[in-house]
Amino acid sequence: MDVISNRLEQHFFNSFLELDEEYFNCVSPAALQEPKLGNVNNLLARDLGLDANFLNNRKTFDLLSGSDVPGDLMPISLVYSGHQFGVWAGQLGDGRAITLGELLVDGELWDIQLKGAGTTPYSRFGDGRAVLRSSIREYLCSEAMHALGVPTTRALCIFNSKTPVYRESTESAAVICRVAKSHIRFGSFEHFHHRGEQSAVRNLACYVIERHFPEWNSGESNYEKLFRCVVVNTARTIAKWQAIGFTHGVMNTDNMSILGDTLDYGPFGFLNEYQPSFVCNHSDHQGRYSFQNQPKIGLWNLNALAVAFSTLISNTELVECLKEYQPEYETMYTLLMAEKLGLEHISSKKLKTIERLLELLTINKIDYCIFFRSLCGYKLEGENTFIRDMFLHSKDFDKWSYEYNKLLKHETVCEEMRHKKMLKVNPKYTLRNHMAQEAIILAESGDFSLVTDLLHLLQNPYDEHPSMSRYALTPPNWASTISISCSS
Ligand code: AMP
Ligand code: MG
Repeated sequence: MDVISNRLEQHFFNSFLELDEEYFNCVSPAALQEPKLGNVNNLLARDLGLDANFLNNRKTFDLLSGSDVPGDLMPISLVYSGHQFGVWAGQLGDGRAITLGELLVDGELWDIQLKGAGTTPYSRFGDGRAVLRSSIREYLCSEAMHALGVPTTRALCIFNSKTPVYRESTESAAVICRVAKSHIRFGSFEHFHHRGEQSAVRNLACYVIERHFPEWNSGESNYEKLFRCVVVNTARTIAKWQAIGFTHGVMNTDNMSILGDTLDYGPFGFLNEYQPSFVCNHSDHQGRYSFQNQPKIGLWNLNALAVAFSTLISNTELVECLKEYQPEYETMYTLLMAEKLGLEHISSKKLKTIERLLELLTINKIDYCIFFRSLCGYKLEGENTFIRDMFLHSKDFDKWSYEYNKLLKHETVCEEMRHKKMLKVNPKYTLRNHMAQEAIILAESGDFSLVTDLLHLLQNPYDEHPSMSRYALTPPNWASTISISCSS
């Protein structure tokens, strides 16, 4: 098979085809008009073992832009259902995503998927396309998350085109090549359970176990092990979201990965000012998916998945697994927050100091990312005016700093080392909406240079990048006019 550089040529699989056809449909991408490469993620290409300049190969370009798929590949779209905003939505499925196949990298299969590559049997009323704007946001954000240590899908390249798409105005269609260990969702299991197809639920669970946990010995208890894994991984990923100040925006069960990876970037948002009630999705009027609600929505979604697993595992076992969610979440979140404060070992005193700090950040309307980056220079014996000045009420800082000092005095690590460690866990840069927006505006006129620069910045968020330091500041006023909502 003469596709995508020698590396891909030898290792392109489609393990899904071993399953019955009720799980997927064979589909072909619909070519874009005059596709142009916007950007290629060289870091991910290297991780996948692809040759440098792999997209110079015409066949590879045609494949990954969805223009021409060789006859020996069998691209598919997957079926799933889901709960959207807490309500059962019935059948959904890959309405605009087409998996070309899987790439074997160091013994592990990675899905290679095109998002925005045309209609599938699951497109319903949609056009199967993604606009350039939402594609750039996903492209940059998934890499930002990866660099921040959050499990996530990634994106290998992005293509722009002359194909028009009609939203509120006419925009151009883009395709991103998404790479993930799995695109199976909570909703994939819910789909078959709600149709009463229990053997399909079982077979899907077996597929996930065989593909992602081949080291497990076969046996009935594997279903319980799988469910426990989903609970634990989901708890950990959401704890990471909370620690970095990330809001997903559409935590429907069809957007929840069975591996606990962050999936389906839409109206996501990083916190500017620390605001627990922050809602990034402008169509989420009830605030169901606000920043502070994410941990409990994670558990709600796991409960929905538990229903779908109820013919594989006893209720008692399901409940036992679900009980692990909260402690797992709290352990991970506390650990990450303590690291951000430069504190080793967790104690209840430290927890209180973290909680109080977050309350003060809220009251004083302090930027989350900037605060923690600044805290990396905090001196036990110092005035720390550069932090004190961030507070509207400086007494709040004085009180908190008194408590923080008490904790720091018990740390065994010297100040210089603490500063160094903190700089590695408190990013200087996150993907604020206005940054993506600036890159989008330029890219819409054909200039992808800011996409390239931001990708590099976000892949190295702990570095200083002096020439880009304007992106480490609070957003400009015009950023508040950016409105982001569901699928685009
Ligand atoms: P999302 O909000 O992006 O997670 O999408 C929810 C559902 O709508 C999924 O089944 C998507 O595949 C589908 N969908 C979203 N946008 C489109 C589109 N432009 N064309 C077809 N299906 C879409
Ligand atoms: Mg989705």
